Amino acid sequence: MSDEFLRPCLFCQSKNLTDVSEAGKGLRVRELGRKIDIKLTVCNDCGLLFQNPLVEKELLQRYLEKHYTGFKNIDLAVERPINQVTCSQRDFLLKHIHYKPEDPVRLLEIGCYEGDFLRLFADYRWELRGIEPSESGAAYAEKKYGLKIDRSLMEEVEFKPGEYDVIVLRHVLEHILDPGEQIARLYESISPNGYIYIVVPNAKTPWISITNGFFTLEHITHFTIATLGNLLRKAGFEVIAVDDQPNFVEIHMIGKKVAEKPVFRMSNDRDDILQAIHSYQTERQRLREEVHQRLVGLVAESGKTRVVIYGAGGHTEDLLELFDFSQFHVLGIADKNRSRQGESFYGYEIIPPEQILALAPDYVIISSYDFQEEIYNAISYLQDHGIKVVKLYDRVKAFYYY
Ligand SMILES: [Zn+2]
Repeated sequence: MSDEFLRPCLFCQSKNLTDVSEAGKGLRVRELGRKIDIKLTVCNDCGLLFQNPLVEKELLQRYLEKHYTGFKNIDLAVERPINQVTCSQRDFLLKHIHYKPEDPVRLLEIGCYEGDFLRLFADYRWELRGIEPSESGAAYAEKKYGLKIDRSLMEEVEFKPGEYDVIVLRHVLEHILDPGEQIARLYESISPNGYIYIVVPNAKTPWISITNGFFTLEHITHFTIATLGNLLRKAGFEVIAVDDQPNFVEIHMIGKKVAEKPVFRMSNDRDDILQAIHSYQTERQRLREEVHQRLVGLVAESGKTRVVIYGAGGHTEDLLELFDFSQFHVLGIADKNRSRQGESFYGYEIIPPEQILALAPDYVIISSYDFQEEIYNAISYLQDHGIKVVKLYDRVKAFYYY
């Protein structure tokens, strides 16, 4: 490829790249009110998959403002239950590092948000620090858990040599514009025999939705075990632990700052990542066709029939685009989020689920992956009243890992 807009590989600087933008097409950015095609390339020399060229800076900034840094309201009364995924990340870290709860360890989490991970160490003698650009997240972590938070982006922070014994980045590195440089900086700020712990989404197992759900605006780089390993090893770390199994969508990796920098040899898993992207597109296409066929089947079976769609979220937006619902008589979109009930959603009214029975549709079509079973269980009583409840994503669990 010889497009002057393309950047060389973020990691190895190679200009020998393969375009895979097809996989990033059709990302819906709801708050910006439009769809965006994410451009992607894979480096032929090291396998790194990254946005190329990047989406416009202004767009990215507006998006981040909305999602990460812009929230101002915090509600300290809200209790955040301890999330199992966060606990499993803590367990992974503790299993592989040699520090004990009573050791004078200085732990920094970059992008700590509301402090959920850090507070798991509240009983330790460790000194806990966080860096968090979101005001609401930082304020919650400070006021609720008494944590010390630096309200910054990591790029703006000046680190001192050997300042920390453990640095944690969970779902942060994929957002960084210059991950190699940042990891090199962190290497310097970690003490001898200290650790870096990184969690990123696994680019080899992208989750599937009927439009582009994985290659999002804010993810600049999509790592695999090989490409994340390259990054840590080149900075000088020895990779002492790797796992992509705890919940499969993530890679967990721990690097140790050993006395002598290991000799760096670059891995290249280009062929694997190209294969993964190919499967992603094939599965996505199959899912689209399956869902489309199911809706065509409903129309064929019953004609212009009365339906309620359940779920006023992104999946329903995708669904309304995939299929022409004017072939049905849509009575409304059910959603249990009270603050949205009464609103119009693509011309349909959002109604409380309790109203479905009175509307007496022929079908309720569940439009959700994550909560499909939960919704089905909550409304299956409707079937006793002659209302059929339809799941669209019967097969989706086979390749959708949440
Ligand atoms: Zn490269």
